[in-house]
Amino acid sequence: MSKVVKFGGSSLASATQFAKVGKIITSDPDRKYVVPSAPGKRNSADTKVTDMLYACYALAEADKNFDKELKKIKERYDSIINGLNLKLSLDDEFKTIKENFTKKIGSQYAASRGEYLNGIIMANYLKYEFIDSAEVIMFDDNGEFLPDITNEKLRARLKNVKAAVIPGFYGATKDGVVKTFSRGGSDITGSIVARAVHASCYENWTDVSGFLVADPRIIDNPETIKIITYRELRELSYMGASVLHEDAVFPVRQAGIPINIRNTNAPDDEGTMIVESTCHHSAYTITGIAGKKGFVAVNIDKDMMNSEVGFGRKVLSAFEENGINFEHVPSGIDTMTVFVHEPEFEKKEQAVISEIKRTAHPDSIELETDLALIAVVGRGMKSTRGTAGRIFAALAHANVNVKMIDQGSSELNIIIGVSNSDFDTAIRAIYDIFVKTQL
Ligand code: ASP
Repeated sequence: MSKVVKFGGSSLASATQFAKVGKIITSDPDRKYVVPSAPGKRNSADTKVTDMLYACYALAEADKNFDKELKKIKERYDSIINGLNLKLSLDDEFKTIKENFTKKIGSQYAASRGEYLNGIIMANYLKYEFIDSAEVIMFDDNGEFLPDITNEKLRARLKNVKAAVIPGFYGATKDGVVKTFSRGGSDITGSIVARAVHASCYENWTDVSGFLVADPRIIDNPETIKIITYRELRELSYMGASVLHEDAVFPVRQAGIPINIRNTNAPDDEGTMIVESTCHHSAYTITGIAGKKGFVAVNIDKDMMNSEVGFGRKVLSAFEENGINFEHVPSGIDTMTVFVHEPEFEKKEQAVISEIKRTAHPDSIELETDLALIAVVGRGMKSTRGTAGRIFAALAHANVNVKMIDQGSSELNIIIGVSNSDFDTAIRAIYDIFVKTQL
């Protein structure tokens, strides 16, 4: 049995954090493969090393002197090395980095040094083998990740390795040009390594004790979700709830490996398990609530719309032709509403309206702005009567006017449209009725 453990930037921001991480790793012999991020913020006023590297490289690229900035980055690492009493010098590494920056080798290389150097320190501290991700995580020349080649390479490389540190966030092309994932991409590396070694679990250690039932900026101290399925996670993440990089799910999901979100600062908390499916019931019927503001409803009316074959297609092609994604399309007999993201739609609104007018000849088109969508998600809704009833009763009590309702046929979620100004009140009302009344 082996586990892959990925630690985020705040878990590795200082020697104190490194020591916590060391304890976590050594307390379970299955924790054999470690994927570190670059050192993150030590406090809210601090700067992530990745951001320092981007800024430093920008100076190099502009032919400006970057000695002072590079020295500051080295100091971050040296303070970790000294705090852990390691006999390790990064002098040569920094010499190489300086040369490569001067050669303007690329900003992706620059950013990747954050995890590369942290990986060297981690391997030295744990006495694990260091494997440079540039040798095993493969990208094509356009920077697209190559999952199958990577899986083979990584699997072969790790076959006889008992314990290793593989830095997150980057890899390289076959010619050795360093490429990175998008920001937060160490999560993806952890998932890729878990798939390659057929890990029993991918533990993703961060600074929260898992996925929360609702946004803590709206709900004080929300409860943690104990178990969530990949589909539920996708619904909630899509609506703005985020702990994990979106692309981190695919490799482990493909291999049927669960993800466990854990808290480095509270290692005894069980965190959240993300699984393919489960017979565990959620304690609150619903699994989570998430939402986003900033939608527009495009209301289209036409007498006898119901008997006009092709009307919907004509309307939707006006959005397609202008490159606009639609979110939901609730409809009535003679009305059809298309929910779209306001910032995206705003730029193209007149083009879309005239295209609809020209092709579908509606009686009227009206826009309603400043709307929010809230998703109430839960695998438990399928087998429980009255979920929708409870949601709408709670919203009515809280004086929230519901503008749109959409329940998918999978009964995994109910989407509710409200005014932006009712957003927080609505989320609190739903949280209270399902979670607080159960506590
Ligand atoms: N260090 C990178 C970032 O700040 C990647 C990561 O931490 O996952 O985005």
